[in-house]
Amino acid sequence: MTKIDLKSMDFEELQLFMAELNEPGFRGKQVFEWIHKKQVTSFDEMTNLSKSLREKLQQNATLGGVEMVRRLVSQMDGTRKYLFALENDSVIESVLMKYEHGNTVCISTQAGCRMGCRFCASTIDGVERNLSPGEMLSQVYEIQRDCGAHIHGVVLMGSGEPLDNYENVVKFIRLINHPEGQNMGQRHITLSTCGLIEKMYLLEQEHFQITLAVSLHAPNDEIRKKIMPVARANPMDRLLAACFNYTEKTKRRITFEYAMMQGVNDSDDCARELAGKLQNMLCHVNLIPINDVKERDYTKSTDERVKRFAAILQRSGVETTIRRKLGSDIDAACGQLRRSHLKSK
Ligand code: SAH
Repeated sequence: MTKIDLKSMDFEELQLFMAELNEPGFRGKQVFEWIHKKQVTSFDEMTNLSKSLREKLQQNATLGGVEMVRRLVSQMDGTRKYLFALENDSVIESVLMKYEHGNTVCISTQAGCRMGCRFCASTIDGVERNLSPGEMLSQVYEIQRDCGAHIHGVVLMGSGEPLDNYENVVKFIRLINHPEGQNMGQRHITLSTCGLIEKMYLLEQEHFQITLAVSLHAPNDEIRKKIMPVARANPMDRLLAACFNYTEKTKRRITFEYAMMQGVNDSDDCARELAGKLQNMLCHVNLIPINDVKERDYTKSTDERVKRFAAILQRSGVETTIRRKLGSDIDAACGQLRRSHLKSK
């Protein structure tokens, strides 16, 4: 018999599960708090449950999660990079970033990715599998325990495409936001997508207050298709219409991510074309000098280029920032710890 994963259950499902074990209603709440507020990793730690109930849980259920395999700590800014193992042999990575306004964790939503962006290390071997809500929560809970400080925000920007694992990601957001659990404010959650249009319309209907980040990386389809295969089925006019709809319905500002690659998408013309398209959008552009990936042949734009590109956008009234690089001494670039681990095996 396969055991059922309690960490991936929402509050109501857990109550039903406890009812099926002939337990009174309040037990569901107690177990939920142990898992999501006190964040224990074994049934033995649930000390307000009887020994026999703990044994019954042990027989029927698990507290599925992830296990730390490696940790790198930056000596420069305290950034920590984690390699976690899943129940099968897969590994994923997560990052702790320390900002003035609090600690933020970057988590993975899939082992690998099938979107195929040409500049990204996570997608080189395709996708292995989707992560469960419990595996996403565990990344946050494990890091919180390891660093001994409260985690205040989360960004879904590790490996995987969150909207390609839609149901589990939505459940994760509800769980991490739950008042009887981590109680993380939705405004402190950022979901980053390569731009799956249909799923963006679905997401808007969840009425979340999260921040949506869209990986644009180009001012037009011609360039975008060269670096992001997903642009073929998700053309830019429809993508920007979906973004506009999202901002209209949620009143939340969208972040456009733009990874700058020398000679590919970093010209003045690109900046002007982009500015033109974002004129009436409630948005903000985040320029990211691309991280070098050994397997990929794109080079990052020079600092001067990035600054000039930013200035053109700003002059046209598009709010723009340049992403500060954290953890540069621990090779915190996207997906690279996982790749070096897979290769060494
Ligand atoms: N699949 C989602 C989220 C994961 S990737 C998405 O595409 O948004 C998170 C961000 O990292 C995306 O903006 C992605 O384009 C970017 N990224 C991937 N590889 C990169 C690299 N080598 N350098 C800089 N950013 C990169």
